[in-house]
Parts: sequence; structure tokens; C-alpha cells
Amino acid sequence: MSEHFDLIAIGGGSGGLSVAERAARYGARCAVVESGRLGGTCVNVGCVPKKVMWYGAELAHALHDAADYGFDLDMRGFDWGALVRKREAYISGINTWYHTYLEDSEVTEIPGRARFVDANTLDVDGRLIRADHIVVSVGGRPLIPDVPGAELGMDSDGFFALEERPQRVAVIGAGYIAVELAGVLNALGSQVSLYLRKETFLRSFDAMLRDTLMEQMLADGVNVLPRTAITGLKKTEGGIGLDCEQGECGGEFDAVIWAIGRVPNTDDLNLDAAGVIQDGEGFIPVDGFQNTNVPGIYAIGDVTGGPALTPVAIAAGRRLADRLFGNQPERHLSYENIPTIVFSHPPIGTVGLTEDEARETHGEAVKVYTTRFTGMYHAMTERKVMTAMKLITVGVKEKVVGAHIIGPGADEMLQGFAVAIRMGATKRDLDDTVALHPTSAEELVTMK
Ligand SMILES: Cc1cc2nc3c(=O)[nH]c(=O)nc-3n(C[C@H](O)[C@H](O)[C@H](O)COP(=O)(O)OP(=O)(O)OC[C@H]3O[C@@H](n4cnc5c(N)ncnc54)[C@H](O)[C@@H]3O)c2cc1C
Repeated sequence: MSEHFDLIAIGGGSGGLSVAERAARYGARCAVVESGRLGGTCVNVGCVPKKVMWYGAELAHALHDAADYGFDLDMRGFDWGALVRKREAYISGINTWYHTYLEDSEVTEIPGRARFVDANTLDVDGRLIRADHIVVSVGGRPLIPDVPGAELGMDSDGFFALEERPQRVAVIGAGYIAVELAGVLNALGSQVSLYLRKETFLRSFDAMLRDTLMEQMLADGVNVLPRTAITGLKKTEGGIGLDCEQGECGGEFDAVIWAIGRVPNTDDLNLDAAGVIQDGEGFIPVDGFQNTNVPGIYAIGDVTGGPALTPVAIAAGRRLADRLFGNQPERHLSYENIPTIVFSHPPIGTVGLTEDEARETHGEAVKVYTTRFTGMYHAMTERKVMTAMKLITVGVKEKVVGAHIIGPGADEMLQGFAVAIRMGATKRDLDDTVALHPTSAEELVTMK
């Protein structure tokens, strides 16, 4: 005998929890199947622990700056283990909260690993469950390359499991996770080498952002090694060594972190039994309404290969539930103008088209405004951190199609501008907005 639901979400991460909770609010009978900890990547090994570590790293910078503001501090060290234990206790509270949340939402929690039996049936460790609507929200996991000695390195999950701070660290990768982990470790006292396969990092971001961040990371002491493809890891007398295409590539490390991308958790889902098509990398293609090629089976979040961000998975899940059970047949997520933050030091906030993308699409109609300055906080400090901003506009009305900010506070600055851009703001709208003074954000409404 199998149990029947209106909707089952496979995966209790950002996407799965959201779609089930919203659908249950409409009265649908829902279940969430989760093989690990509720909350998924973001809560357990992603955004949340990362942001806690980022706060710690920001505090390290602030403590360094404190003398410039007249404080006479006696620093007696930093206890990485204490921060990690406190962080994990916080996360475990969130895990517990999610059990209550599902219970209160009247969503059935089914612990275990799901695999398809057919398009409407799942096998969860021997328990058969059926639904009219199945949402695949299984997320992804870090990619470890197939090179000799790869297992000597760790991935971002391994980084979060570290109980002590490694002194000499190699971070391999050029995406936002590589940049963020390198920044945290560097600020908290490790010697960090960041290995890039190509010339630079954050290659899909506006050039102004990556150039400014590169300058800052070098100034902060990160050893950035461009054009260095790692071909293997090996044990050395005092740690781990790297081999790269050029031969030996410098140094011995206490920890090596692979941050070279993520792969979808689709290998053991038995998607063939349901007839669901995957792309060459295992991601599940969907249309604008999160439909897979099989009616009644949907995919949301990282498993679709779309923007791998928690709010994207949540928004797609909630809109899908609105469409299926809330009588809103056209409801779907627009993937345009999705804002993103990189929790580097300083942070980056970005939304819309980069300058290159805008010029490619709109050619001569593009007008760009930029500014670069040292914010007032750093006017007082010996350690300087630049702020840089760029607005990309198009056409005679100068519609803003991109905003890119790097600098202290960029993370908290962007959200409101993302609303304005989504609503079609023009440069004139920004100019007509009264500035907040003295802030760095005011530069965004006073650019010439
Ligand atoms: C280091 C790091 C930092 C990040 N920082 C940010 C950030 O600052 N901001 C941001 O927006 N995003 C961030 N992200 C991305 C964010 O975590 C993901 O985009 C988000 O978690 C995706 O949600 P999801 O629901 O698609 O998948 P997930 O949250 O990964 O959830 C999938 C769940 O499915 C479960 N599962 C998998 N297979 C099965 C199965 N067969 N049966 C049952 N359960 C299964 C997994 O255990 C997992 O819990 C970060 C990610 C990482 C790795």
C-alpha cells in the first residue's frame, strides 16, 4: 500500500520547504522527503555558516582598524573552534525550528532518500509514496575533480567542518564560493593562496567589480595565482603539495579547498523511471513555469542549473505552489534582474546587466556612470578599502539596466536599488531621489 499526497517535494532545502509550505496553506496535502538535515545547503553548509564566518572576518578587520579610532586594544588571539561551535549550535536551532515549522504547516516530514518508481510514485528507503505533483528540489553538492590525490583536499562542506583554523591554505576556484572562503580565512589569520585556472575570478561579473576586488585581495595579502590549473595533490613532508600544468606550483599547505563548482544531486533519483530528461551535466531543464518534460513533475532551485541562490529556489517554489493550488495559472518566477551579493571583503552587490552584456545587446544606446572613492570610515584608517559603483543605462530615457557596487555596506545597499530597477527606474528617478548623508549609498543617486 502506498500513501497518497497532492504534492511531494524531494529535498527539504530552500526550494522544497517553500513549495510544500505554500501549497499546504492552500489546503493541499503535502510531504517533504529529506535525506539529510532540514534546511538543505543554505542552512547547513552554505549561506548561513558562511555569513557567520564572514561576520567574524569583518570583525577581525574592524579590530585591526580600532586603533585608528583611538582604541587601545590588547588582542589575545582568536578561537576558531569557539566560533564554529557557536555557529553549529545556532544552525542546530534552525534545524529544530524547521521540524516545528513543517508540523505547524501540516506538511508531513518523511526522512530518507527518495527515488522514482514511476512518474507518480517514489520509493523512500522502502516506503512507497505517491503524489499528483512531484517537485524535484534536491539541490547540488561540491564538485571534486578527477585528478591524482584529489581526496587530500576538502570541499566547502569540509571547510565548515574544520574545528581548527588551518594556517597555510590553498583555495582552488574562481567562483564566489572560492573568493568568499579565501577572504574569510585571510581575515582570520591564515596565509591564503587562491589558484585561478584563468586570468581572473568572478568572470561573469562586471569587470569593475572583479578588478576592484582583485586589488583589495592583493592589498590584504591573499596570494592570487592566475593561469594555474591544478593537475593533482600530493602528500609532502609537512603537509599537502600541488601539481599544476606548469609543474610544481608553489608551497606546502595544511589545507587545500576545492571550490571549482557544484553538480546536481540527480545520480540516484532514478529519473529514467519517470521519463524525466536531464542535460549532459545532470541538471533538470525546466520551462518558465518550472515544468520538466513530464507533466506533474517539476524542478526548482539548484537542480535546474539556474541561478544557484536561496531566494531564487524559494521564490520559484512559492510561485509554483501559487500556480498549482492557488488558482493563479500564470504565476511564475521571472529570472530577469536577480540581485546577488558576494560576501567578499569588501562585499559586492550586483543586479542586472554587466557593461559588456549591455553593450553587446544595446550597443551605442548604453551610457555608463561610474564612481570610485574611499568611504568616510576608511578616511580615518591606515588600511584603505575602496568603494566603486557603476550604473548602466540604456536609451534616451536612460533606463537603469544594471547596478554594480563593491565596498563596505554594498551587501545591505543593493536590495532597494534592485526593487527600483525591477520597476524600470531611470537615471532621472535616481537623480530626483533625495540623498542620505553622509553615506556611501548616496553616491548612487548623485552620480554624474
Ligand atoms: C558555500 C556556499 C555558500 C552559499 N552562499 C549563499 C548565499 O550567500 N546566498 C544565497 O542566496 N545562496 C548561497 N548559496 C547557495 C544556496 O545554498 C543554494 O542556492 C540553495 O540552498 C538551493 O536550494 P535548493 O532547495 O535548490 O537545494 P538545497 O538547499 O541544496 O536542498 C536540497 C536538499 O535535498 C536533499 N536531497 C538530495 N537528494 C535527495 C533525495 N534523493 N532524497 C531526499 N532528499 C534529497 C539534500 O539533502 C538537501 O537537503 C551558497 C551555497 C554554498 C555551497
